[in-house]
Amino acid sequence: MEERSCILPGGWADAQGEIHNRVVFSALTGREEALLADTQGNGPAKVTAVLSRCLKQIGSIRPISESIARELLIVDRDFLLLKLHEATFGSRVQATLPCPWPDCGEKVDIDFTTEDIPVSPSQEKGPRFTVVLSPEAAFVKNGKAHREVTFRLPTGADQERLSSRLAENEAQALSELLARCIRSIGPHEMTSAEQIEALSPLARMEIEREMLRIAPKIELNMEVNCPECARLFTVPFDLQDFFFGEMRTSRDLLYREVHYLAYHYHWSEKEIMEMPKDQRRNYIEVLADEIERLNNAV
Ligand SMILES: [Zn+2]
Repeated sequence: MEERSCILPGGWADAQGEIHNRVVFSALTGREEALLADTQGNGPAKVTAVLSRCLKQIGSIRPISESIARELLIVDRDFLLLKLHEATFGSRVQATLPCPWPDCGEKVDIDFTTEDIPVSPSQEKGPRFTVVLSPEAAFVKNGKAHREVTFRLPTGADQERLSSRLAENEAQALSELLARCIRSIGPHEMTSAEQIEALSPLARMEIEREMLRIAPKIELNMEVNCPECARLFTVPFDLQDFFFGEMRTSRDLLYREVHYLAYHYHWSEKEIMEMPKDQRRNYIEVLADEIERLNNAV
């Protein structure tokens, strides 16, 4: 199967803290399409499974286990979903949505290529970062004020753990995320949830702001011009929703293709599901030509 490569905007840190960012990967096969299309189960865990199956190498490390895929930064995982989407379905995205201006509401067509989505690599690679809190935000314990906080950036493991809780209680899930990412406050290593609770809102804000500044970014807010009323509006492009949504709409087609190929070639479902979309399409085209040729010969 054809292998492609890309450079992660963040990068994966090995146990020695060395950053690896060149990824070799291949397109989704029918198996991964079906896995992603399934509405049951934990979305981020499915992304982990799919990444570990499609990524062949990161830096000098291969194969890519689920635990490595899980340790990837959230932004890197999103970036890889975009790349897998490009490799499997191409880079063009077309959608229709209503203009949000109340006096307009006309349908607006959106058409862009995922290659045009701006990606900013992180300037600092970590994996551990330090922020010095302002004196007002200092963490006070036993009469001592501590201002130095170290943290890591959120990963797939955090996503897997918190995705269901995010829907139930967002504030609590975000506190837990912060507790998981903060590694030390002053001399106190591996801070407990109680210590995180004791951080002032100002301290939390300063830490979160620094996390955002340091993290790599994918610009997913798109400015759209309504052709009807000529006003601009911003559309947030939710990558995972888009990715999963697309798999669900193409699921029926996937099973039709498998049926068609199995029927004509007598290949097993397993063999067909291990093909990427391109390959299935090529065989279907050859079949269509062949059937047309036979029909014309009659
Ligand atoms: Zn409008």
